[in-house]
Amino acid sequence: MILGATLELTRCTSCHARFLPTDGPCPKCGSTDCAPYSASAVGRVLVATELHYPASGWHAPHRLALVEMTDAVRVLAIMDGGLPVPGDLVEVRRDGDVHRARPEPTQ
Ligand SMILES: [Zn+2]
Repeated sequence: MILGATLELTRCTSCHARFLPTDGPCPKCGSTDCAPYSASAVGRVLVATELHYPASGWHAPHRLALVEMTDAVRVLAIMDGGLPVPGDLVEVRRDGDVHRARPEPTQ
């Protein structure tokens, strides 16, 4: 049972790999026998960075965090809020084609 917000992940029923949802086959074995499942939206920051001169269309500072979710699925997320440090817990949500993270509400 998952308390709080959830994030949709995908499980390959052939090789049991877990990954972010994709329109294509399993990135590990190529099987198309994949199924979505809901995991906790809370993950732990592995590393984060802050871009003062981001690509056109993004506001500075543009903060990015590599976040490890349930089942060791890693997500590169745009950080809303301050720059986190490795080990911080953040809540990740999908926003169109990108993922966004913010400090975990319970912190
Ligand atoms: Zn697979």
